[in-house]
Amino acid sequence: MIYQGNAITVAKNGEGIARLTFDLKDESVNKLSAAVIEELGEAVKALQGESDLQGLVIDSAKEVFIVGADITEFHGVFEKDEAFLVEMNQRVHAIFNAIEDLPFPTVTAINGIALGGGCEVALTTDYRVMADSARLGLPETKLGILPGWGGCVRLPRLIGADNAIEWIAGGTENKAAAALKMGAVDAVVPGDQLEDAALDLLTRAARGELDYRARRAEKTSPLKLGPIEQMMAFETAKGYVAGKAGPHYPAPVESIKVIQKGAGESRERAQAIEAKAFAKLAKTDVCFNLVGLFLNDQLVKKKAGKYAQQVAPIRQAAVLGAGIMGGGIAYQSASKGTPILMKDIKEEALELGLKEARKLFAKQAERGKLTTEQMAEKLSHIRPTLSYGDFGHIDLVVEAVVENPKVKEAVLTELEDQVDEATILTSNTSTISIDRLAQNLKRPENFCGMHFFNPVHRMPLVEVIRGEKTSGTAVAATVAYARAMGKTPIVVNDCPGFLVNRVLFPYFGGFSLLMKQGADFQRVDKLMEKFGWPMGPAYLLDVVGMDTAVHAGEVMAEGFPERMGSLGGGAKGESQSAIQLMFENDRLGQKNAKGFYAYEEDKKGKPKKVVDEAAIALVKEVAKEHRELSDEEIIARMMVPLCLETVRCLEDGIVGSAAEADMALIYGIGFPPFRGGALRYIDALGVAEFVAQAERLAEELGPLYAPTETLRRMAADGSRFYA
Ligand code: NAD
Repeated sequence: MIYQGNAITVAKNGEGIARLTFDLKDESVNKLSAAVIEELGEAVKALQGESDLQGLVIDSAKEVFIVGADITEFHGVFEKDEAFLVEMNQRVHAIFNAIEDLPFPTVTAINGIALGGGCEVALTTDYRVMADSARLGLPETKLGILPGWGGCVRLPRLIGADNAIEWIAGGTENKAAAALKMGAVDAVVPGDQLEDAALDLLTRAARGELDYRARRAEKTSPLKLGPIEQMMAFETAKGYVAGKAGPHYPAPVESIKVIQKGAGESRERAQAIEAKAFAKLAKTDVCFNLVGLFLNDQLVKKKAGKYAQQVAPIRQAAVLGAGIMGGGIAYQSASKGTPILMKDIKEEALELGLKEARKLFAKQAERGKLTTEQMAEKLSHIRPTLSYGDFGHIDLVVEAVVENPKVKEAVLTELEDQVDEATILTSNTSTISIDRLAQNLKRPENFCGMHFFNPVHRMPLVEVIRGEKTSGTAVAATVAYARAMGKTPIVVNDCPGFLVNRVLFPYFGGFSLLMKQGADFQRVDKLMEKFGWPMGPAYLLDVVGMDTAVHAGEVMAEGFPERMGSLGGGAKGESQSAIQLMFENDRLGQKNAKGFYAYEEDKKGKPKKVVDEAAIALVKEVAKEHRELSDEEIIARMMVPLCLETVRCLEDGIVGSAAEADMALIYGIGFPPFRGGALRYIDALGVAEFVAQAERLAEELGPLYAPTETLRRMAADGSRFYA
C-alpha cells in the first residue's frame, strides 16, 4: 500500500502500476471536500516518492466516479476574502499539476458520474476511459461560479475552445458517446471492461505504441488560435451566451472570458487567471443564492425520497378530466412510464387531450429523444375512456375537472364508489380547500391534494396537500407518484390557495393597488421582468386567465378577508380592481386573445403579445390617483405582499421549512432563481430593512403590507430565515 486515507487509497500491482482509488468512507458518493483534497495532496506526494512506478490508474470504488466538490462547504468558504479563495484554488492547482507531471503515463477510469471537480481530476491524467453509462461535465456555471480547478484551462486544450465553451458555459452533463466524439475521453467501454481498458492504454503507452508525452504536451501548452478563430470562438460565443443566460447570471460569460484570456498562456498563468475570476464570482450574491438553491433542492428531494420509501410504487394511475391539466398529467405519467386511464365526460375532450399528448411526444421524437416505436409505446400508456369500467384496479386517481366545488364534490363522491378501498384519490384543485372536498367522502384518509402547475410537462413543482384527515400513506403514495413523474413534490398543509397560490395572490393584490394609484402596467411588467421574473404580473394574469384569477381571488378573499378582501368582489364601497374590470369586459387573457395585452399567433402558432390601446384605456378607469412612483417603490409594492405571505405560511405551518417554501416558489411560479426565493430575498435585504419597508407601506396601503409579530421580533433580535 502506497497510501491509505479516509477517502483515498493508493496501491501498486506486480507490474508497477499504481492505482489511486476514491472511496469516501461512510458516504454513498465520492466528493471533493477540503479534507479529501488534502488527502489527494498527500497521496500524490506518496506517488512522487515511489521510484519504480510504470503508470497510474485513477478510479473509484463507488457507483459514481466523483460528483464534484462538496457544495455544503461553499457558503462557509466563499465568505472568506478573494485573496484567500485565490490561494485556496492555487493549492489545488499545485496538487492537480503534480498529477499531470508524474513521470509515467496516467489514465482515469470514469465509471460513473464525473462532474465539476470530479471531471477536473479526470482532466489531469494523460488518458481517460469512460463507462458507456457514465456522465462527464463541468456544471459550475449553474452555481454562479466557473470551473476553478483547471477546467477552464485543460478542457479547451483537450477538446478545442468552441467545444469547451459549450460544456462550460452551458454547464452540460455529457454522455459517453458525446465525450468520445469531442475527444474528451479516449475510449468508451461497458462498465465491466473499464479496468482492462485503462490498463491496456497504460501498457500501450509503456511499450511506446502511444506517445503519452505528446498527449501531455498538447494539454499543457497554450492553445494555438489565429485571430479569425479567436473571433469565431470567443466573441460570437460571448454574445450568444450573454443573450441566453440573461443579465442576472454572469458566470457563463465570465467563463468564456477566462478561457479566452488563458488560451495563449502557460498552464500556470492560465490557472492564475482562472483562480482570480473564480474568487470574484464566488463572492457574488448570485453565487450565494444559487448555491443555497442547490442545497435547498437537495433537502426537498431527500424529504420526498423518504416519503416515497414508505409505499409501493404506483403501477396504474387515472385522471378525471382531459382538459389542459388532465391532458398534461396523462402525458407526463405516460412519458415517465406509469400507465394512466384518462376519463372525461366528452368524447371531444378526450380527443383533444390525446392530440396534445401526441404533439408533445412527436416533439420529443423530432428532437431525437424518442424513436417512433418508443413514441407509439408511450402513447399506448394513455387509455382514454368515457366510463368508470376499468377503475377497479387503479392505485391513484387525480381529479382534474373544472374548478367548481360542487362539481368536484359530486365527481369525487361518485368516484369513490367506483374504486378499490385502498385507491388514493387526489384533486388538482388550485384553491378549493382539501378538507372541504373531503367532507362527503367515506374514506377521507385516502384523499389529498395533488396540485400541478401549467404547463404540466414543463413546471417541476407538485404541491401535495395534506388535509386534516389525510393519512400518511396517502401523502407518501402521492409524493411517490409525483417523483415517478419526474416532478419535485413538496408537502404542504391545507389552507385556501395552499402555499403557492396563497403567496401569489397577494402579489396580484399589490398589482391591483398599483393600478389604482395610476401606475402603468407595462412599466410594472418590464420592471418585474428586469427584477428576474419570467413574465410581469399583467402578462402572467393573461396567461393564468382573468376568469381563473377572479374565481381564485374570491376564494382567497373569503379565506383571508382582512388582508385579501379586495381580491374578491371588493369590500363595500371599494372600487373595482383592474383584474375584475378585465374580466367583466370579457378580456380573459390568452385564452380569448385579449387581456392586459392582445395576442396574435406567431410563425410557430404560439400566442405573441402586442400592446392593446383598449386595455390601456380600461385600466385607466380604475386609477383613482396618479402617483409618481420610483422603480424601487414599484418593486417593493409588488414583492412585499408576496414575501409577507410566504412568512405567514411558514409561521402557520402550511409549509415545513424555509427551504421548501423558497423551492416551491421557484419551481411553481418562476420566482427568480438567482434571488433564491422569497425568504432568502428577505434575508438578503435584511429582516430589519424589510420590516421597515413593510411597515411604511402598511401605513399607506393597509394590512396586505403589515409584517407579522414574529417578523418584527426577528428584526429586533437580528435573526434570519437561513443560518
Ligand atoms: P379544463 O376546463 O381545461 O378541463 C376540465 C375538463 O374536465 C374538461 O375536459 C371537462 O370536459 C372535464 N370534466 C368536467 N366534468 C367532468 C366529470 N364529471 N368527469 C370527467 N371529466 C369532467 O380545466 P383545467 O384548466 O384543465 O383545470 C382542471 C383543474 O385543474 C381545475 O381544478 C383547475 O383549477 C386546476 N388547475 C388548473 C391550472 C391551469 O393553469 N389551467 C393549473 C393548476 C390547477
